[in-house]
Amino acid sequence: MPIDLRSDTVTQPSTAMREAIAKATLGDDVYGEDPTVNQLQDEVAELLGKEAALFVPSGTMSNQLALLGQTERGDEVVIGERAHCAWFESGAGAALAGVQFATAGAGGLFNATELQAAIKPGSYYLPRTSLVAVENTHNASGGRVFPLKDVKAIAEAARASGLKVHLDGARLWNASVATGVGLAELAAPADSVSVCFSKGLGAPVGSALVGSRELIERCRRLRKMLGGGMRQAGLLAAGALHALKHNRARLVDDHRHARFFAETIAACPGVDLDLESVQTNIVLFEVEGSADALCKRAAKRGVLISAMGPRSVRAVTHLDVSFDEVGKAASLVADLLREVRA
Ligand SMILES: *Cc1c(COP(=O)(O)O)cnc(C)c1O
Repeated sequence: MPIDLRSDTVTQPSTAMREAIAKATLGDDVYGEDPTVNQLQDEVAELLGKEAALFVPSGTMSNQLALLGQTERGDEVVIGERAHCAWFESGAGAALAGVQFATAGAGGLFNATELQAAIKPGSYYLPRTSLVAVENTHNASGGRVFPLKDVKAIAEAARASGLKVHLDGARLWNASVATGVGLAELAAPADSVSVCFSKGLGAPVGSALVGSRELIERCRRLRKMLGGGMRQAGLLAAGALHALKHNRARLVDDHRHARFFAETIAACPGVDLDLESVQTNIVLFEVEGSADALCKRAAKRGVLISAMGPRSVRAVTHLDVSFDEVGKAASLVADLLREVRA
């Protein structure tokens, strides 16, 4: 078995999680009658301090519902650089919600002043800026935590200009564990929050969109329209409930492992790795040669990492890789980097 550090989505459900899934009480969720889905939605809404939650098949659907539910066609959505909702969702924002994106700041995180600079003045011939989306943690910049003080200031500036605020919190669990700030406090500035159960929490499938009762009811209709109304979805919700209970606190281990991996790689010649960026479970670094070639050579030796650009490489820690395995993977990648130099 290779040591798979491509993503925290590659985890397999544990025996205990499979047992919880097998035992789940089920009903038809399109009728609102699946008790396990209802329990998950209640628990997630409570955890994030919002009125209601909606279980959806993926984080992509959750983000797209947030766009569909809070914008009109022709609107503009302000995002940070390489936001998942604009870059990694197959152009759905344009195709489904009919919105276009404007980027604020550089590097993925931004502040209230940068948001204000991106908001278009109100005029009939300009797009209407109606939503801002922040991503915490920010995936494409290496799992950086979006500082809460910036999210708060962004939300304040957004409200002053009549914008809604969406928080793509696919890895909000990681942000909470890394900062010690509670989930509800991190979610408070946002109107809608998307969270994923299938990343670091290790559930096989599923995300949730969380917000006001009114927004969630609108999004329930939109979810059906997108084909995301599922029937005995409690099988999936049971995995998510198990993950919420058992796999949140242990994210500190993933963060510790990522730091160890990063420190080993940062010490190699020809590597550009900003240790300050390694705040959670993602390690992003630049190599002198081809990222793709490095990943292929690592794969041949049993370590899977991803090329994110011509020189950019990503490794992600998760609950299916032990400290020992992360250590082995780091040594192998370090050896390969030294070989390139020799
Ligand atoms: C993974 C991810 C999503 C959702 O991805 P799906 O694969 O559709 O579940 C959304 N936002 C971010 C930041 C992500 O990393």
